[in-house]
Amino acid sequence: MRGRERVIAAFKSWDTKNTGLISQEHLAAALKSLDLTQGEVDSLMSAAGAEPNGGPIEYARFVDWLDSGGSIPNACKEYKFFVGANWKCGLEDVIEVDEFIGKINEKWMAKRESLGDVEVCVFPPYVFLDRIRRKLNREMQVGSQNAWDAASGFKCTGVVSAAMLKSVGCKWVLLGHSDRRNVLGETNELLAEKVKRCLDSGLCVNLTIGETLAVREAGNAINTLLEQLTTATASVPADDWGRIAVAYEPVWAIGEGATPCSPEETQRVHSALRACISERAGEPAAKKCRLLYTGSVNEKNASQYASLPDVDGFVVGRAGLDADKLMAVCQTLGQPAAQ
Ligand code: PEP
Repeated sequence: MRGRERVIAAFKSWDTKNTGLISQEHLAAALKSLDLTQGEVDSLMSAAGAEPNGGPIEYARFVDWLDSGGSIPNACKEYKFFVGANWKCGLEDVIEVDEFIGKINEKWMAKRESLGDVEVCVFPPYVFLDRIRRKLNREMQVGSQNAWDAASGFKCTGVVSAAMLKSVGCKWVLLGHSDRRNVLGETNELLAEKVKRCLDSGLCVNLTIGETLAVREAGNAINTLLEQLTTATASVPADDWGRIAVAYEPVWAIGEGATPCSPEETQRVHSALRACISERAGEPAAKKCRLLYTGSVNEKNASQYASLPDVDGFVVGRAGLDADKLMAVCQTLGQPAAQ
């Protein structure tokens, strides 16, 4: 059961010193990530042997209980885990694109039984979208790296609208990547308009937010992220949060030579994002919205993030341009963390 695997994986990732013990706070966080009611969390805590004094518990007892038939109620999220591959300009030629799609299709067919519930989406540049939608296995999705750069209502030369993307079979659109914010000057306000237009056209939105190193060093990371999140989603109705995935992408953690954000810090940030969505749009919206980690994720480190309670998937850059690595990243979701 995915929920069982997630809980066990979360125990192991928190128990970095291999003590066999977990704090009650971490156990409760692992269980809450499974969308359980407080009553269900309480009864599972007592199945794990949690005493009212709040001391650490031996999680082996809880795992034995699960293995001997104990079940976690409703222990499955409403949605699939998500893995997006942002190609940026990584492939520039149709022959290379066709070869790469052929490889992804082949690897997908070979692995799909073992992947579980993972939604895979490739994000190529505009010009390849139609071609890729025709060639990529239909079990995988296609998304655009951008949509609609023009001011409101202006049907301007060179603009690609959300409706156009929808008509060629895109499901997702990536908005707010730091390349576009920091190099091309996209503001939170412009992104809010784009988010609205894309949702109105029936697309799902993958909203990227992230702080620069200078912002993090000044101690302003969480405030900056919440500002990016709340401004860009200001007009999103509560019912639409199931069509949004928020990708936390620390700008300092992406690309060659960068160090990924630590799993502990990633969980801290994601939990603040989830709390913010819950406060603004309600708990059901916060549960429906997927929170993705992005920044130097690869086939070696993905399992450390996949088991975190508030990580619902990834967007990968470099690893998304290698079919083996991409499938290996997909395979980590819902699996116990590597020790
Ligand atoms: C990126 O550049 O947006 C990115 C996530 O890249 P990588 O995964 O290669 O760090």
